[in-house]
Amino acid sequence: MKAYRSMVLISSDPTSMQQGAQEVFDTLQSKIRSFGMEEEVSLSMVGDVGRHDVAPLVIVYPEAVIYGPVKPESVHLLVEEHLYKGRIVPELVASARELSGRIAWLQARKGTLPAEKRIVLERAGIIDPSSIEDYILHDGYAALGKALEMKPGEVIDLISRSGLRGRGGAGFPTGTKWGFVAKAPGTPKYVICNADESEPGTFKDRVIIEGDPHSIIEAMTISAYAIGASEGYVYVRGEYVLAQERLALAIKQAEEMGFLGNNIFGTDFSFHIHIHSGAGAYICGEETALIESIEGKRGEPRARPPYPTTHGLWGKPTLVNNVETLANIPPIMRNGAEWYRSIGTPSSPGTKCYTILGNVNVTGIIEVPMGITLREVIAIYGKGMKNGAGFKMAQTGGSSGSVIPATLQDTPMDFDSFSKAGVSLGSGALLICDEDTCSLDLAKVLLNFFRKESCGKCNPCRIGTQRAFEILTNISEGTGLQQDIVDLKIMSDNMNLLSNCGLGQTAGTPLNDILNHFRAEVDAHINLKVCPSGICPMSGRRI
Ligand code: SF4
Repeated sequence: MKAYRSMVLISSDPTSMQQGAQEVFDTLQSKIRSFGMEEEVSLSMVGDVGRHDVAPLVIVYPEAVIYGPVKPESVHLLVEEHLYKGRIVPELVASARELSGRIAWLQARKGTLPAEKRIVLERAGIIDPSSIEDYILHDGYAALGKALEMKPGEVIDLISRSGLRGRGGAGFPTGTKWGFVAKAPGTPKYVICNADESEPGTFKDRVIIEGDPHSIIEAMTISAYAIGASEGYVYVRGEYVLAQERLALAIKQAEEMGFLGNNIFGTDFSFHIHIHSGAGAYICGEETALIESIEGKRGEPRARPPYPTTHGLWGKPTLVNNVETLANIPPIMRNGAEWYRSIGTPSSPGTKCYTILGNVNVTGIIEVPMGITLREVIAIYGKGMKNGAGFKMAQTGGSSGSVIPATLQDTPMDFDSFSKAGVSLGSGALLICDEDTCSLDLAKVLLNFFRKESCGKCNPCRIGTQRAFEILTNISEGTGLQQDIVDLKIMSDNMNLLSNCGLGQTAGTPLNDILNHFRAEVDAHINLKVCPSGICPMSGRRI
């Protein structure tokens, strides 16, 4: 690899692109050339670095200085002062306050913050996602090479021993799932990467694909080899245009280099990957609805069993894994099961990506070992509650996740500890709410979302979400009755027990949590006709 004196990276997530990242890149390229430094300074567009409020960011190595937001008119100064004269430009440096994601990691390396542990995001924001050479230089495709030297069963055994559990929400052991598909009768077999990521507030999969698309191709190819599949699909959320473009380019590059397609690495193993763009339905994140959608049908969930492991795409054995789960595969293959087990907790090894949202000082994406607590996430990575407000509640895992009160913020965030506390880890979205947030209003917003996204196939969900929303609206407008609480609880239980799929089964989860943990606040709306937070329309005042 050619050695450069300086390396300049420009964030190119959708926010950065909207804020003129491409223009900044073009101007940087032209200025670097005009200073005659094109042989000394490398320039790359990289993925999301975890912070959007100062986008686009320009990161200069080896000093690891982060500039942002950088405008084209600031580029001359940056090139002349920093790259030509070696002087950092303080007025362009991104605010030193509240740094998150990649930036927090950089600070951590300097000993100012506890470190994130980056496994699935290890290259995002560092390598050029449009360069397969850059991926290879950062250990890319080494895991695939290692896997192809092993027997398929040995690969599955390694993944099983690592203890990796699915990061889509359920936490099912990944190696066990792979084993089910490998043993299932019938050919051909398929691998599907679920990149629909329709859960509100969750964008980790987008960051992984945009920043490190080859890691998903490599992981899918390893899984295909292990289970005996020859075709794979990446089902990508329709709005993720940049992710789809990067993935398409990466697939083309991998095919040209012999890492994908026919006779991979000169072996008799062949595997092809296709991209399927979603059309915007939340329910298509559910694996059987996703399969229906790929088959060209309306995206409605199938009745289960049978499960996709035996009757998936076109009725054939199919492995469906989410992006974050797959992104763990190459590092496990390279570093071994014991290494992976040394991170996180005994029953939930590894890391988890969280997207931090809401009333904290810093929002963004982090990757930390399993077992960290919500209190630590808020204090260390959220840099505390905004305006010094008190913490009231958090919703974990997206819209269908749990709503937890302050008393649960010291519960370790891993599959089993959360499950014991009756909380769902879900997708990893953490919506942090302060004392000024009305829990009833939050329930109303969530039920409004579910009633719109219900596919309508079964009555408990289609009617239940609509009626629950109407009742919550009545309560918020001051016309609620105590009987409404009883009705909401019955409705929530019925949706949970009788709905066909996860959407209806979990739509009542946050509602139940709010009724359990914040009953006094809901009662105030009904009995006193007052919204204690001053949010709901009937009141406009606080008590
Ligand atoms: Fe559709 Fe809701 Fe029934 Fe799922 S639970 S199949 S989303 S109506």
